[in-house]
Amino acid sequence: MAVKDKPDEFFDQLEIMPADTREKYYSQQLSQTVDHAYRHAPAVKAIFDKTGVRPSQIRTVKDLEKLPITRKTDLIELQKKSPPYGGFLTIPPEDVDRIFLSPGPVYEPIQHAGIKWFAKAFWAAGFRRGDVVINTFTYHLSPAGILFHEAIRDCGATAVPTGTGNTEIQIQTMHDLKVTGFVGTPSFLMTLIKRAEEMGYNFRQDFSLQRAWFTGEPLAPSLRKTFEEDYQIDTYQAYAVTETGGALAYECREKSGMHLMDEYVIEIVDPETGKQLGPGEIGEIAVTPVHNKVWGLIRFGTGDLSSYIVEPCSCGRTAKKLTGIVGRTSDAVKVRGMFVVARQAEQVCLSFEPVSRFQIRIARQEQRDEMTLKVELEHEATEKDKQKLTSDLKQKFQDVCRIKLDQIDFVEKGTIPEEQPKIVDERTWE
Ligand SMILES: [Zn+2]
Repeated sequence: MAVKDKPDEFFDQLEIMPADTREKYYSQQLSQTVDHAYRHAPAVKAIFDKTGVRPSQIRTVKDLEKLPITRKTDLIELQKKSPPYGGFLTIPPEDVDRIFLSPGPVYEPIQHAGIKWFAKAFWAAGFRRGDVVINTFTYHLSPAGILFHEAIRDCGATAVPTGTGNTEIQIQTMHDLKVTGFVGTPSFLMTLIKRAEEMGYNFRQDFSLQRAWFTGEPLAPSLRKTFEEDYQIDTYQAYAVTETGGALAYECREKSGMHLMDEYVIEIVDPETGKQLGPGEIGEIAVTPVHNKVWGLIRFGTGDLSSYIVEPCSCGRTAKKLTGIVGRTSDAVKVRGMFVVARQAEQVCLSFEPVSRFQIRIARQEQRDEMTLKVELEHEATEKDKQKLTSDLKQKFQDVCRIKLDQIDFVEKGTIPEEQPKIVDERTWE
């Protein structure tokens, strides 16, 4: 469908599929993907054969649990053993349109015809014909620059490939071309605004920026408020993964969670067992691309931790939403079957003003995990204040991290060394 014929609200019909249609769609896509990868990618055949699973046994999303998670370290290893693609390429090498590199290195083949869907993430953020957009992601090695550039074009907007860095050239470009859209990281946009102000500009009056699309780092709520209220820039976030070639989930105007892209089957799994988790439970994001059939990755473990929500969204899109990235599997510790993530604990503790430093200690007493939060306060506090803080902290910790703190200990200022990890696991398993 040509851009001008699109309904304004949604990029395609997949975004508004009813739940049972989506389930059928996933099953169909997954069957085709698995059969294709098994037949054409030796690494995928090896995974199936080793696990004793036949492609015909993978017909639903639930069936994916039968297969192991493949991680970046596995990809690096396999690509070293069987260069350059590790046995995951499903087409003749001469048909590969472009090859991206991510640190490792990991070589990622992509066929150009297969990536139209990224545009959805920009469409939902309001990018349209008439917009002039600077794309400040890098245009070499990594897929971000080129793929996002094409997605901006697929929304009908004009793309300016400014790439990374060159702060003053970016500012002049934004000014001279009356740029309306920004694509990049939140911190880089803030750098541009601050620098423009230092150069004597009044950002709101002298520039035309209306919307910004971010990925690559989380958008802090306080920074979002500054962009939206002080500078009237409409901001949107997306979740992208280099190894699977781009954006996997994106915000709509509701801005509470990121809708999953239907061109991937995205699971939230327990990183240790690979079992799928339910709504609200924190686990690792695992991705199976079902439209980029060039690259036979099945259940790629991203190492990013998130959870999903299934509540209907007022925007009309029907896909589940990711709640945001709360950390990396390497920063998380499993306590009583739930993941406690250092960054999430930090978000809770430091939201209380008197708290200057904290540390979580996990011990095991009589077959039960005990979680103690040690807290240093900025100033001395009365017993009554401490009691109130204890109950408020416990409540918020449970609301955000979905697990109960057993105890809160107030310790002398300077007791918790800054260089120590935020979560200390003292459990022994004998
Ligand atoms: Zn929505």
